[in-house]
Amino acid sequence: MNINNIFCIGRNYADHAAELGNEVPKKPLVFSKPTNSLVEANGRTVQYPADQGEIHHEVEIVLYIGKDVTDRVKVDDVVTKMAMGVDLTLRDVQSELKKKGHPWLIAKGFKNAAVVTEFWKFPGEVACSESDFSLLCDGKVVQQGNISSMIFHFQTILEYIQANFGLKKGDIIYTGTPEGVGPIVDRKKYELRWGDEVKGSFVVQLR
Ligand code: ZN
Repeated sequence: MNINNIFCIGRNYADHAAELGNEVPKKPLVFSKPTNSLVEANGRTVQYPADQGEIHHEVEIVLYIGKDVTDRVKVDDVVTKMAMGVDLTLRDVQSELKKKGHPWLIAKGFKNAAVVTEFWKFPGEVACSESDFSLLCDGKVVQQGNISSMIFHFQTILEYIQANFGLKKGDIIYTGTPEGVGPIVDRKKYELRWGDEVKGSFVVQLR
């Protein structure tokens, strides 16, 4: 599948903003990752640096823009597929960057920082809120969320990205993480679940 841009939304769940001591934003907090950071959660072992402090998992719903977008963008018209993803974050590095007021790229855009499952047909925003999504570490739930808790809903996110950056067919959007972020652990298996359904998994290797 051809993926153009990776947009991500930060602090989109109040309980997650609170756990990191961040204020809830007044408009969507958008950042991006290089497409080179993508890796598929197809059961593979994925390598991460062991010498750069904590690397946090952030499980998120990922939207795929499958149609050309106009300024009158409507979620259910242009989002054709969805997936689950993990936005990996070098948290200690990010904290330093925040203090200095520097861009987050090195903390968010490193190799394998954008884990994504296979995409499936988008059921519409309303249907989407009927399933919880979760991340499991060796079979234990570490994060669980529902899009009904989002601060900025899909429609607002799409309008904001379209207005500021332009949104095109082939772009994907990581829509933010619920609370429960924490450091990934060497040799643990992480499983991404949509409702009860396992959509993908990967094993962490720190080196
Ligand atoms: Zn995130």
